[in-house]
Amino acid sequence: MCGRLGGVTVATAPTSPRHRVVIIGSGFGGLFGAQALKDADVDITLISRTTHHLFQPLLYQVATGILSEGAIAPTTREILARQKNVRAIAGEVTDIDLSARTVTSEILGRTTVTEYDSLLVAAGAGQSYFGNDHFAQHAPGMKSIDDALELRGRIFGAFELAELASTPAEIERLLTFVVVGAGPTGVEMAGQIAELAHRTLQHDFRRIDPRKARIVLLDGADQVLPSFGQKLGGKARRQLEKMGVEVRLGEMVVDLDATGLTTKDRDGNETRIEALTKVWAAGVQASPLGRMLAEQSGAKTDRAGRVEVAPDLTLPGHPEVYVVGDLMALDKLPGVAQVAIQGAQHAAKAIEARAAGGARSEPFSYFDKGSMATISRFSAVASIGKVRFSGLVAWLLWLGVHLLYLIGFKTRVTTLLHWAISFVGRGRTERVVTEQQVFARNLIHRLGRAEAYPSLPRVPGDRGELEEGGDDRGQERAAG
Ligand SMILES: Cc1cc2nc3c(=O)[nH]c(=O)nc-3n(C[C@H](O)[C@H](O)[C@H](O)COP(=O)(O)OP(=O)(O)OC[C@H]3O[C@@H](n4cnc5c(N)ncnc54)[C@H](O)[C@@H]3O)c2cc1C
Repeated sequence: MCGRLGGVTVATAPTSPRHRVVIIGSGFGGLFGAQALKDADVDITLISRTTHHLFQPLLYQVATGILSEGAIAPTTREILARQKNVRAIAGEVTDIDLSARTVTSEILGRTTVTEYDSLLVAAGAGQSYFGNDHFAQHAPGMKSIDDALELRGRIFGAFELAELASTPAEIERLLTFVVVGAGPTGVEMAGQIAELAHRTLQHDFRRIDPRKARIVLLDGADQVLPSFGQKLGGKARRQLEKMGVEVRLGEMVVDLDATGLTTKDRDGNETRIEALTKVWAAGVQASPLGRMLAEQSGAKTDRAGRVEVAPDLTLPGHPEVYVVGDLMALDKLPGVAQVAIQGAQHAAKAIEARAAGGARSEPFSYFDKGSMATISRFSAVASIGKVRFSGLVAWLLWLGVHLLYLIGFKTRVTTLLHWAISFVGRGRTERVVTEQQVFARNLIHRLGRAEAYPSLPRVPGDRGELEEGGDDRGQERAAG
């Protein structure tokens, strides 16, 4: 989206006498924060690097061909079209000046400075490769639409290349899919790749049998879905194994390249897995805006770069600045959508009170509505209060809740139809793959243009590898 077209600087001149609110981010925190202020006597500017609101929990369904990207990423501008007190602008926030009370954002070489009276920061988190950022080149994460489309291309592309391969070893490498991270995202991804290979694609090829695909789910922890407890984690593991997923626990990835990865267990034994397709579903790193806020305010950040906020979600010493969602650290609250939504709604109430000339600094109290993860069609695990359950009931509940939180009637209807096609039938309607999906991210890095595309995962040191022909494309050509 960004590039260098010129150095125009536009300072938004706030002429409104009303309280000015700036919101950073159009995710769960940013969007729900803006909507909670719909009746407030304020002028809101919502700044986001993406022009859509992304429903991250269903990214894996875009990656595996069930849903289109539009179904999970409606345009923010359209969602907020009728809310007259908000203006959405596109841009990467590059600076927040707490003393001047300004936010600087950039897009296509155009710089915009926006003044605020109250600031809500909901910039979320990106993928963490635990210091091995070079893994990103061959193992995309699962944080954005770009990630999901690239993964779709890599997953479906692997079957295409296997159909052309000439030796059993080559076919095995091309049909091995490794998902790193056995949290909800990794479990959902591994389950869907298994369903794709075993059901959807079973009749589509002539020389290979997609049902022979090897799907590996691995994690350094001792159990699958640690946040769901041992019982549900055990059930999820058994269900995955029943579906043919190989679950490897207590193993860390120590090396990863174009053709596979190496793991090390606790006894120091190393195992090499030959696999073209790797998915990184482990670890989060908070937006760099967190560090920026911490440096100026003296707030602390935790290991993942989240900002430690006061109990009322404000930045220490700055009652006009709220940090919510995945970027905030408070009472070990998890990085889930409800924390972001409820946090943003709490901050919105306080901002409304400030705008009316009052002060409100009530502590934020989170209401845990429970958590769910799907394993396959008709099978999920759910943990609500003290109640834990699994199977079809949990899956139906998962279905209902996700439909409820998808934005827009049209989206809900089309999503339901796509689910019927994929879960009752065998089909997947979103199997289109373009060259751009698979190759653009790495080529942008190769061209040294990564800085112009801030949402791309970092891939340091990728240049040489691509030039030496060691990229995925080179491998795939050799395979063909
Ligand atoms: C694959 C996946 C599956 C998940 N599944 C679940 C689930 O099943 N249930 C659940 O409750 N939670 C789930 N989560 C977690 C949930 O999505 C997050 O907790 C939630 O999105 C956090 O909301 P947020 O507003 O803090 O951040 P986000 O939703 O990530 O939004 C951040 C926003 O900030 C913008 N932004 C970032 N940096 C800048 C910048 N510098 N300038 C301008 N804009 C910027 C981004 O474009 C984005 O709009 C999942 C997450 C992922 C990645």
